[in-house]
Amino acid sequence: MDILFFLLFLLYFIAIIVGLIKPTSVIRWGNPDKRNRKIVLKFYGIGLILFFVLFGLSINNIDATEEYSGTTNISENDDVQHANNNTKKEEEPFQPENENNEAEAIEEINDDTVVTGNLEVHFIDVGQADSILIKTGSDSMLIDAGNNDDSNIVVNYIKSQGINNLDYVIGTHPHEDHIGGLDAVINTFEISKILMPKQKSTTKTFEDVLTSIQNKGLKVTTPIVGETYNLGQAEWTILAPSQVQYDETNNASIAIKLEYGNNSFIFTGDAEEISELEMIKTGSLKSDVLKVGHHGSRSSTSIDFLNRVNPTYAVISVGLDNNYGHPHSEVIERLNNKNIEILRTDEVGTIIFISDGNNITYTTNKSDVTNVVAIPQPVTEESNIEDNVAAVEISKLDKKGELVTITNLSNEAVDMQGWKLVSVTGNQIFKFPQYSLNSGAFVTVGGYDSIDISDFDWEEGKGIWNNSKSDPAGLYDTNGNLVSEFND
Ligand SMILES: [Zn+2]
Repeated sequence: MDILFFLLFLLYFIAIIVGLIKPTSVIRWGNPDKRNRKIVLKFYGIGLILFFVLFGLSINNIDATEEYSGTTNISENDDVQHANNNTKKEEEPFQPENENNEAEAIEEINDDTVVTGNLEVHFIDVGQADSILIKTGSDSMLIDAGNNDDSNIVVNYIKSQGINNLDYVIGTHPHEDHIGGLDAVINTFEISKILMPKQKSTTKTFEDVLTSIQNKGLKVTTPIVGETYNLGQAEWTILAPSQVQYDETNNASIAIKLEYGNNSFIFTGDAEEISELEMIKTGSLKSDVLKVGHHGSRSSTSIDFLNRVNPTYAVISVGLDNNYGHPHSEVIERLNNKNIEILRTDEVGTIIFISDGNNITYTTNKSDVTNVVAIPQPVTEESNIEDNVAAVEISKLDKKGELVTITNLSNEAVDMQGWKLVSVTGNQIFKFPQYSLNSGAFVTVGGYDSIDISDFDWEEGKGIWNNSKSDPAGLYDTNGNLVSEFND
């Protein structure tokens, strides 16, 4: 191929040179006879044809090298994959497939989607909100950043993963439970590309995000359905929004499909049925994991959409005892009817999926700690015990419910024996007995008559937290150092 290129280029060069010399000779001697003109035109013609041949070849060449497998053209691969998924989808419930065809098709997919290493998808527990961190090798991206109050949780969680820069940040739509912590993320980390829908909002939260974007000198990229981006060896494609403006802001949510080898994930923000029906038209939606739209509200996860995605796992990012009644029982029923395994952040905390390109496993806060530790996490050399201790924090103070939540955002288990939790107004102190808080896990301490789910109880004869006055919480380690403070 290289020799062919060289010869073509040589011919092109000669043709152009001769073409250049001839007209000057024509002009110089002022003798533009017909024969000369014909020769000049001929050389120009040949030059032009060779130029287009070379141009066409070089375009093909670029396409082939951009694809990580380095063998075939991107659009061809997509066609093969989608066609195969569609066939599978239609035939699956009714009849066995033609064995030969399937074997061939699968071989073809495997050839094009060989990946090395793992992809991790972290559904960070941010209560009634969304925040999803995706990592593969040294590449990472964040979809949403929880409520304003979740800023510290999200920022510290990303830091605890050894991440300093995010390749992509997506603010799915301008509601607080999705972009609340986004300004803190933008202010803290280097960001290569940020995507948000055109849909506008007049809230202070939205203004804060725009200000931080401006201050960082970033430009917002508008999502275009069908556009594909690379994240290391993974690839993600925009599925929604199809329209620029929707009556219901939720429908403006950016939805994407993330593919890693033969595994795939769909993240839909708070997209509702209108957007889901539009997504169906964009191509194959079949995925292993579905981030259930709109925290499990019944306005999302329509039957048609669910049938197309047909996931093995459904993740619902939702707050315990939230005011919206999320997730809706109808949605749970739809998922159960299809035997989809449901994972809820209000039940299991942060959920981490790990894909090797063929198989997906997951761990949660409540999983065996050895599984969590097994996740490869780049730790910076300066990291020491003090850093880890600083990453233990009071993540939530529910004064009415008399419940304090303490989260370990560090990479290691922390020995909390002798640590003190202090209710500042009234100076009530809870002292931890022998206790080790695992990496990524949380522990709850309940006051008087607290909701009966706390790990530890204060056991004082009256309420601990003052509901009418300010009553911050402080967490102190064994040396009496203030580790974390929660101002109510
Ligand atoms: Zn939401």
